[in-house]
Amino acid sequence: MAKEGHKYIFVLGGVMSGVGKGVVTSSIGLLLERKGYPVNLIKVDPYLNVDAGTMNPTEHGEVFVLRSGLETDQDMGNYERFLGRDLTNDDYMTSGMVYQSVIARERALEYGGKCVETIPHVRDEILHRLEKAAAYNGSRVSVIEIGGTIGDFQNALFIEAARVLKMTQPEDVLFVMVSYLPTPGTLGEMKTKPTQTAVRDLNSYGVQPDFIIARSKEPIDEKRKEKLAIWCNVRKDRIIAAPDIKSIYEAPVNFEKDKFSTALQDALKLPEKRKASLSAWKKFALATVDAAAPEVHIAVVGKYFDTGDFVLSDAYLSVIEAIKFSAAKLGRQAKISWINSKDIERNGNQAVAALAQYDGIIVPGGFGETGIEGKIRAVQFAREKKIPYFGLCYGMQLMVIEYARNVLGLKGAHTTEVKKNAEDPVVDVMLEQKKHLADNKYGGTMRLGAYPCYLKRGTLARLAYKKELVEERHRHRYEINPAYVKRLEDAGLVFSGTSPDGVLMEISELPRSMHPFMLGTQFHPEFQARPLAPHPLFTEFLKVAVAQNRKRR
Ligand code: GLN
Repeated sequence: MAKEGHKYIFVLGGVMSGVGKGVVTSSIGLLLERKGYPVNLIKVDPYLNVDAGTMNPTEHGEVFVLRSGLETDQDMGNYERFLGRDLTNDDYMTSGMVYQSVIARERALEYGGKCVETIPHVRDEILHRLEKAAAYNGSRVSVIEIGGTIGDFQNALFIEAARVLKMTQPEDVLFVMVSYLPTPGTLGEMKTKPTQTAVRDLNSYGVQPDFIIARSKEPIDEKRKEKLAIWCNVRKDRIIAAPDIKSIYEAPVNFEKDKFSTALQDALKLPEKRKASLSAWKKFALATVDAAAPEVHIAVVGKYFDTGDFVLSDAYLSVIEAIKFSAAKLGRQAKISWINSKDIERNGNQAVAALAQYDGIIVPGGFGETGIEGKIRAVQFAREKKIPYFGLCYGMQLMVIEYARNVLGLKGAHTTEVKKNAEDPVVDVMLEQKKHLADNKYGGTMRLGAYPCYLKRGTLARLAYKKELVEERHRHRYEINPAYVKRLEDAGLVFSGTSPDGVLMEISELPRSMHPFMLGTQFHPEFQARPLAPHPLFTEFLKVAVAQNRKRR
């Protein structure tokens, strides 16, 4: 049980989605921790999927994998990056998870013959999970982001649980509404009405917001703060400006301009501790938007870009952030270009040749057949033209396939994920995965979460990490086929990282005598890159890319 007097802050969205509830939640966490209050952050996803693992990234952005292996929403990645530490399974919940536990209990006759209902049983399961997470984390304040927007059917039950908590512990619960204030081009004036309506909707749930985070293009002015205060029943000093920013990492710094953390602390009646020291964070945030920093150009060759006519890079969020952190450390500004591998397939040589303008090429994680030959061509180009290459998961598997095809001469080399009866299955399904696939057990069954990896002396990987044993997060069903390892090694490829028993190939690379930086990882290093602790492999990759850039000028 969470301690009596434990504080809860619920973050809700008004007007529309995608305006940064996750960044607000992360920022509150960061600011309160800097004030000396241990915090835990929880993401609530109202959908019925038990976890985010079974969704296509074009549906819901990147699937972020926790250390434990739980497949979660990309917001969890932001939480980890802002807090600078690993989160646990207790810090994430979906409707699917909540219902699954209630139904399992019902099947086990644990409700003693009662009729099992949404209220109270599902609601109480939600409350139980919130308490458990607080207790597990030993925190003083829980910040809970409820996914979706006020007025959705799906999240109503979570808002109801929050209302009940407020009723039983009125002093301990706060509601923060993140709302959007549009400035229609034709008017040129910021409008507060949609926010007023959203607050009224929230009121109909029996919930009154204590804070409004006013998301808008320009900072909200005093006049409109007054208007919102009167119409929404929220103190003016609790309406916090949140204008568009270049980098999400500026958000906590900006919030402090409106004294947000002090206002939260007052509202929660938390005693004064120490002043939030944000100096290291500020320095980093400034570096991410330093327009004077020289650029380094990276091409990310992927396939999850299309939602209608819009190009979204959300599917690769952690990769983008990992690049930014390392670039900031090197005093560079990363310019990322999104290359659709399907275009490379369509436009052939011309599209591949266009890759020559970049300082480095990344092929990130992925699944299935679409765009795969385009990616393999990009890998080949990077290898032959000696452009720094970094392959993440699928990007490593394709690097090995390309090497097998074009250096070893195994023209039929492939992954059995795409070609079941490949002549040379250099990438093959893992033994324990075969049964899952045969039984159609797709949810939560991949090789997931953190595993140890040994690094060979004298390799690029070892040089970057500067240690022998590392731990990285995985999400895959296929792996390099051990039957081909020796042949690949004889042809010059180096497996510089392996599982402790030496069976699984976790990192492949080319010796520096052959290529300045050609390296792939079976794991996803991007999940562990942090603002103040960039990932060594990304840093090394960018360092070489920068050198390449210099050579060219
Ligand atoms: N599709 C590949 C596999 O399952 C790679 C997965 C990934 O890139 N995350 O092994």
